[in-house]
Amino acid sequence: FVIPDFQDFIKIIKDFYWKCKVNTRGKIADYIPQLAKYKPDYWGVSLCTIDGQRYSVGDTEEPFTIQSSGKPLNYGIALSELGSDIVHQYIGQEPSGRMFNELVLDYDSKLVSVHALCVCFRSNLGQQNAPEMRVSEKFDWITQYYKALAGGEYLGFNNATFLSEREAADRNYAIGFYMKENKCFPEKGTLKEIMDFYFQVCSLEVNCETISVMAATLANGGICPITGQQVIDSHAARDVLSLMHSCGMYDYSGQFAFKVGLPAKSGVSGCTMVVVPNVMGICLWSPPLDAYGNSVRGVQFCE
Ligand code: GLU
Repeated sequence: FVIPDFQDFIKIIKDFYWKCKVNTRGKIADYIPQLAKYKPDYWGVSLCTIDGQRYSVGDTEEPFTIQSSGKPLNYGIALSELGSDIVHQYIGQEPSGRMFNELVLDYDSKLVSVHALCVCFRSNLGQQNAPEMRVSEKFDWITQYYKALAGGEYLGFNNATFLSEREAADRNYAIGFYMKENKCFPEKGTLKEIMDFYFQVCSLEVNCETISVMAATLANGGICPITGQQVIDSHAARDVLSLMHSCGMYDYSGQFAFKVGLPAKSGVSGCTMVVVPNVMGICLWSPPLDAYGNSVRGVQFCE
């Protein structure tokens, strides 16, 4: 086993868990009602090692939407399906040092944040003569990928969140139009379809167990430790971890890389997906966020 003294190790994890539990700082995202209604004391920690050792403490079966924590997965799926050359025609690697939703492109007119990755792939980015997927097929296709990454753990779709996200999307639309004007998207696909797909993927519902297995798959070179399936290829998994390391924690990414030094990706629902390469995946979930938009308890646990 990759962690031989698992019982001792768990004692330390539990200890961290309770230390963070009493931390009541932070503010829950309230731009849509589905996020605003999370209880501030929700706090769950799940981990899964690359050889399948599992541990969970707290609210680890409570569902939440994946939001931005899914972006590394979208990036990994795109890389795995299309290869690095095609994906990096559209996606840059340099951290922007800007707010995740800021209206800026880099000098190359490439997206610098991981923010809009999922809007770009498959039916839109697909090989020239690949048949266009219908929007329904695209949704099925990505959920199957997510399910495989999670080794069959819970995955749902929160339609109310999707509808709210689409309703409250002025900024995302502004970014979308700006990108379209600057030819950041391949020719195929309408902006409306691309945006809807983005909101749908943000609204996929998971729990701590799900994310811990997904993170373990990334830790394990793209092979899900529960099923043994190679879900994304190992080069894709490596590139995902590089980008998570440099820009997974919004504008705290530099400090996080310095203090914690692990690839991680947070999201507005309070999720933090953490990867310890070749060891394990961890999910930390607690809705109250700090000024950067990272979960207060999630960051405290990591530090
Ligand atoms: N639905 C959110 C948006 O695009 C995701 C934000 C996040 O988790 O960072 O605005």
